[in-house]
Amino acid sequence: MERRDFIKTSSLLALPSILSSCRLPTRKPGYEVEVQSDVATGHLLMQSKSFETGKTVSIETLIVGGGIAGMSAAYHLKNREFVLCELSDQLGGSSSAFTYEGSRFSQGALYDFSYPEGYGREVLGMLEALKIIDYQPWKNNWNFTDQEHIILNRRKNRVYASGAYRNEVISDGALKDSFFKHIASFQGKMPLPARLINSNLHTLNQVSFLDYLTEKFNLTDRFIAEVDYHMRDDYGAGCSAVSALAGIHYYACRPYNMEVVELFSPKEGNFYFIRKMADTLPKAQLLTRHLVKKITGNQDGFTVEVLDIHNRLIHTFKTKKIIYAGQKHALKYVYPQGYAHFKNNIYAPWMVLNIVTKGALPTPAYWQNEILGADATFLGFVDSAAQDRELKDGNRVFTAFYCLPPGARNDLVMVNSRRDQIAATTIDYISDYFGMDIGDAVQKVFIKVRGHAMPIPGPGYLFNDRNFYSKNKNLVYAGVDNGRLPLLFEALDSGIQASKLVLSS
Ligand SMILES: Cc1cc2nc3c(=O)[nH]c(=O)nc-3n(C[C@H](O)[C@H](O)[C@H](O)COP(=O)(O)OP(=O)(O)OC[C@H]3O[C@@H](n4cnc5c(N)ncnc54)[C@H](O)[C@@H]3O)c2cc1C
Repeated sequence: MERRDFIKTSSLLALPSILSSCRLPTRKPGYEVEVQSDVATGHLLMQSKSFETGKTVSIETLIVGGGIAGMSAAYHLKNREFVLCELSDQLGGSSSAFTYEGSRFSQGALYDFSYPEGYGREVLGMLEALKIIDYQPWKNNWNFTDQEHIILNRRKNRVYASGAYRNEVISDGALKDSFFKHIASFQGKMPLPARLINSNLHTLNQVSFLDYLTEKFNLTDRFIAEVDYHMRDDYGAGCSAVSALAGIHYYACRPYNMEVVELFSPKEGNFYFIRKMADTLPKAQLLTRHLVKKITGNQDGFTVEVLDIHNRLIHTFKTKKIIYAGQKHALKYVYPQGYAHFKNNIYAPWMVLNIVTKGALPTPAYWQNEILGADATFLGFVDSAAQDRELKDGNRVFTAFYCLPPGARNDLVMVNSRRDQIAATTIDYISDYFGMDIGDAVQKVFIKVRGHAMPIPGPGYLFNDRNFYSKNKNLVYAGVDNGRLPLLFEALDSGIQASKLVLSS
């Protein structure tokens, strides 16, 4: 073997199998595969050198990023002068959705649970004001108002592991029983957002979940692999990488392991929340395809260079205040003074595949189909058929998730050239689950590549709100990568807190 080939092969071996797999489709697929990647942003910055100068605008507050956090901040500043810039062609960030033949399907975050007592009142109040939830005094709980998006209990989930189906990821047995007995002692003490957790529990933020579990239980490899699955699913990494506090919070914050709670999952996923907020805001102030390229501080506030991608122009915004709700790794280029605060953040890259199918496929449908297989990066898929109260004839979309290790980020550039293999391998995984080849029913596959998708809540990560010690009080950070758990409720709360800081400065 030539040295170059050897290097190529050995580096592929270190890759997650979905990126290195040499499986080629056995026949020309009857479907098209489209890749949408945020890795392309770098190219855009290169191209922008040829953009012409656009307009100069003065504004009170500029919000960077139209994910949940940026939109929540915008919602709370709706009576003030603000502009929100989102680099993508749609709002949502990791809660975005795509439209296919008139229906919208999630490309990222897709569910939420009903809210128990003890959750943050500010977010609950916001969701009530948006008419997304209402309080049920007889249950001491909040329900979602759009009940058609509640997943029926009998359709909620099914686990596929070692060729057999079961109901839950954690296998039955004495270890599971003692684990959940232990978790029960934390119930009611693990609210959302996590900043409301009593400080006497903060020491749990300093150790890894694996170390904590090892000390308390006689662990088995199988149990660790099952807990790892849950941790990757919500936090982007296994139990050796996340803190004990994050791990315990996962099981204790929502009592779904102990009782039945409402699971809310529209087909458009958590883009639903983005849409609800956007509906209350002036469209002209939500600028998509606007990339914030450079922030420079000056006496009166900031000068911000913004790329207008559609019109190929570079606008200048003069603003007094900024809410930075974009992922913080980019601060290195956009606002280097702020980067040092976030340099220890570690992000998990994710790949989300939307596999659009038509025609007869096996039923009944389960909403979440959790797959514990040889490829640990593949978490399984959500079946849109379980999101319909009555099974309709239209497109049925399988949304499949890969949570990749942080070290695989640079290899995501390969996704484009390997798109057919990635689609075919994922279709194989799903076919294996169903016990039949679904390839012929596939109409189209979308692959969404998210390089910095999820900040991993490792030891020391939580409760580290950089707004407390950042020097410039007129530039405020929002987003789950500001010391928060990567969850919708946290992102909403971070937008609220950022807007309060901006209004008080
Ligand atoms: C695949 C996946 C599935 C998930 N599923 C769930 C779930 O089911 N339930 C749940 O509660 N949570 C889930 N999460 C977590 C949840 O999506 C996030 O916590 C939340 O959406 C994060 O919102 P955010 O606003 O903090 O960040 P982001 O969504 O990352 O938003 C940041 C935004 O800023 C924009 N941006 C960045 N830089 C710039 C710039 N320079 N100029 C302009 N715009 C910029 C980005 O394009 C992006 O839109 C999931 C996450 C992922 C990745």
